[in-house]
Amino acid sequence: MANRHAAALIVAAGRGVRAGEGTPKQYRPLGGRPLLAYSIASFKAAGITDIQVVIHADDIALYKEAAADAGLPAPVFGGESRQESVRNGLAGLKARAPDLVLIHDAARPFADAGLIQRVLDALQTHDGAIPAIAVTDTLKRGEKGLIRETVARDNLYQAQTPQGFNYAAICLAHERARGTAMTDDAAVGEAAGLKVALVEGAATNIKVTSAEDFVRAEKMLSERTSTRVAMGFDVHRFMPGDHVFLCGVRIAHDAALEGHSDADAGLHAITDALLGCIGAGDIGTHFPPSDERWRGAASHLFLAHAATLVRDKGGAVEHVDVTLICERPKIGPHRAAMTERIAEILYIETERVSVKATTSERLGFTGRGEGLAAQAVCTVRLPVR
Ligand code: MG
Repeated sequence: MANRHAAALIVAAGRGVRAGEGTPKQYRPLGGRPLLAYSIASFKAAGITDIQVVIHADDIALYKEAAADAGLPAPVFGGESRQESVRNGLAGLKARAPDLVLIHDAARPFADAGLIQRVLDALQTHDGAIPAIAVTDTLKRGEKGLIRETVARDNLYQAQTPQGFNYAAICLAHERARGTAMTDDAAVGEAAGLKVALVEGAATNIKVTSAEDFVRAEKMLSERTSTRVAMGFDVHRFMPGDHVFLCGVRIAHDAALEGHSDADAGLHAITDALLGCIGAGDIGTHFPPSDERWRGAASHLFLAHAATLVRDKGGAVEHVDVTLICERPKIGPHRAAMTERIAEILYIETERVSVKATTSERLGFTGRGEGLAAQAVCTVRLPVR
């Protein structure tokens, strides 16, 4: 029974926009990463390397962003219903012939390795196993705002995911269940006569659906993290030209900024601050000016790289505050565009980005217009290990 090949099937094909905004909830940011990225990381942390994600065909770009560094096989497209999406996902695993499959909802970001292992352990002796929590609240059946009856809560459980099954058995069960509408895969298995075990779920294995759930999930995340703050500083000299790049925005100007890359002092300062938060050197360590590859490079590449390094450590960017110091160009008209661009590069909400500007009262090199400077302070949350 040992060393059986277990694959994870993450179902992320829903249109669930209930949590607000246009982006389906499985791609909405949680602690600076798309919700889906957490499920992928959960299985990896539990030693499951064969991970198949089922997505909606409209979400390819969002998926690529969410799973960019995960090295997963191409996603499978879902169907009209969750059940059909799971069926497509199971078919997608066929060539890899897993012995076991763990079917998981992308909306549950906090399935821990212990919980996943309990499901796998139960599959040694059962066709299926699901994590569940015993119901402790008294249950009422209601009708038109009135209680009709009190339901005995003995032997009642709340089902969670991942739900694990013998792969061949659940494939067959899903074939038989075509045309029905069941709310989880255990129900599909039960209908086919599978013996499905209940294992201990976790209160932290919450389903993130509403906007309130996202707030709660953010809070849960922050309780397991330490906060780091670091600063960055950069200066570039003006030279003849007709535009500058500042905080990722092209601004027409009667001078240009001199530098090896596009000389975006704003993004350089933020990049250094982020690298400072994780003790990963500075921008020159990662992108040496001596390297021809970075000649004229767009600085969003530098910032995106620093953000990737933060994410690789399981970290999230909490806040970015950048101050541009110059007499000209005027920053005010571009502030909103800069804020949005920085948020986009870092994959965080715009509320987490602050762009400020000041002159130096015509004093010093910035005051004389010889160059401009940028200062940034970044706050990053890292997991407590
Ligand atoms: Mg620089």
